[in-house]
Amino acid sequence: MFSLASLSLRLRAFGYRGDRRTMATVISGNKTSKLVRQRLTKEVEQMKTQFLGFRPSLVVLQVGDRDDSNLYISHKLKAAAEIGIDAKHVRLPNTATQDEVLRSIISVNENPSVHGLIVQLPLDSVNHIDNELITNAVAPEKDVDGLSCINAGKLSRGDLGDCFIPCTPNGCMELIRQTGVSVAGKHAVVIGRSKIVGAPMHDLLLWNHATVTTCHSKTPDLPVQVSRADILVVGAGRAEMVKGEWVKEGAVVIDCGINHVPDETKPSGKRVVGDVHYASANQRAGYITPVPGGVGPMTVAMLMENTVQSAQRFLLKNQPGR
Ligand code: NDP
Repeated sequence: MFSLASLSLRLRAFGYRGDRRTMATVISGNKTSKLVRQRLTKEVEQMKTQFLGFRPSLVVLQVGDRDDSNLYISHKLKAAAEIGIDAKHVRLPNTATQDEVLRSIISVNENPSVHGLIVQLPLDSVNHIDNELITNAVAPEKDVDGLSCINAGKLSRGDLGDCFIPCTPNGCMELIRQTGVSVAGKHAVVIGRSKIVGAPMHDLLLWNHATVTTCHSKTPDLPVQVSRADILVVGAGRAEMVKGEWVKEGAVVIDCGINHVPDETKPSGKRVVGDVHYASANQRAGYITPVPGGVGPMTVAMLMENTVQSAQRFLLKNQPGR
């Protein structure tokens, strides 16, 4: 198996120049996530054989019935089924109270046969529910979304082996690894500081030894900040905000954005674009993720990775004689 960097070197050795000014190497999340899912399928198969039918188990807790949540959950359940993870969808009505949601979480926390629990956000309830309270009610050792304060705190302190890393940043790191470009010593710029994307991405790059600048809506001179990035990760939720001319020549560009823009040529009347203006950035970057087909598929794959990891940790703790 070649990394993108070694493949590109091999192509050049055969006379292919891959003119950087005209085209970056595309980092495919579809291909990379497939490799991750294939590896996890083997690991789950091994667990089943070694531990008499044992399977990692995941619960997806949903409140209400949002269409977008239903779609994301269906992707998660499908990926889990393909890998051999036992995934269960628990849906509470949109009339559920905060106490009812908490009781459901506690019951999963206390069930030793479940290794991963995620609460699908945003919650769709007619009642006021405190998101932070819900996120932090998930037992840290089952928090495979990595959103609780305990896991976020461990990540921020660099305890990477002892926490769950949020799925989208974890997927971004996997895509950066695919390029073969070393993170250590590079200048990384992250746009966005949300709990789910930007802040954990900053921590992850930092503890992989990059020097990291995190930008947000109050950052002046965004183009100047972006132009300094050897590695650029964008999670701003602003369609095609980052222009190609801002991007440093040869940079690794990872675009987390999912934005729907009008497009009359499509039957749906819209299409999905990222936070980076792909057509122009593609001409300056060394490596770039497409939207769709970049970070998106990696997020689901990393949720599966965390669930399998949680089951492995459970087995390690509960092996006879330990
Ligand atoms: P949030 O809205 O929670 O956060 C956006 C961040 O971007 C904020 O920190 C905000 O700054 C910053 N920002 C907004 N506008 C600007 C600007 N003009 N200049 C600089 N910074 C800006 O979004 P999320 O983090 O949840 O998501 C970000 C994007 O990633 C969205 O497009 C989302 O759809 C996508 N996403 C994709 C996933 C995937 O699986 N591929 C998963 C999760 C998200 P401030 O803090 O100052 O407000």
